[in-house]
Amino acid sequence: MKYILIFFLVLYGCSSTTTKTESEVDRAQFILLPEFLAMSMAEDGYKQELKKARENKQLNQNDEHVRRVREIGFNIIDQVIFLRDGTEDWNWEINVQESEEVNAYCMPGGKIMMYSALIEKTNATDDEIAAVMGHEIAHAIREHGRERMSTALVQQVGLIGFAAYIANQAEDRRAADVAVQAAVLGTTLFFALPHSREHEREADKLGMELAARAGYNPIAAVSLWRKMDALSNAKIPEFFSTHPSNENRIKDLQAHAKKINHLYLENKRK
Ligand SMILES: [Zn+2]
Repeated sequence: MKYILIFFLVLYGCSSTTTKTESEVDRAQFILLPEFLAMSMAEDGYKQELKKARENKQLNQNDEHVRRVREIGFNIIDQVIFLRDGTEDWNWEINVQESEEVNAYCMPGGKIMMYSALIEKTNATDDEIAAVMGHEIAHAIREHGRERMSTALVQQVGLIGFAAYIANQAEDRRAADVAVQAAVLGTTLFFALPHSREHEREADKLGMELAARAGYNPIAAVSLWRKMDALSNAKIPEFFSTHPSNENRIKDLQAHAKKINHLYLENKRK
């Protein structure tokens, strides 16, 4: 188990995870958690989410939603290669969960979940679904989850504490149990921590670029966030609490949509 600690100490990165494009996202990132570990935590966490949803008869119940979300999602995934090498090997997956919660996420490694309420309550157009998908996929390829997990491990759990936690689990339990524990911790870290404003700005820019490259109108991000804004007046949805919206953000979205509109015009869907 000493080796895990050594991994944490040695395998950190301080460079940008995505390719620099005209969206001009190239911040150097501090990432401590090894990629394979983040991926396997996400994979196990996603499996558990699917299992829960399936047991509650909430998984992929509406064929039309599933067809639509997967078509748009995979059109966007086809463009991800422009922003990050190696993502063609990711084990991408898209599912729809019946839920009253207005939410969507993409875990590290490309595990996507769209909640039905996001489509229904906003009466989302294809361009708006593309805006959500682009935004969530951008968080994943930009490794915001892994960055947040890394920061949390240092700040909240502690590097040595985490290694001790894993080691302790390994001594007490079977290997399978350890994997489950790690997945629970990974899922908790993934969901519990809000994105920083900088992460949101990056996901907005790269998400719009992905949508435009896939032929969806990037300005739909503005109408989508306005709809979300209106919904949040009634009841603050989970998604909104981690995705603060304001007029500055809307202005930034409008400016970026204008800048990359040529990508949309070049790839526009008939
Ligand atoms: Zn976000």
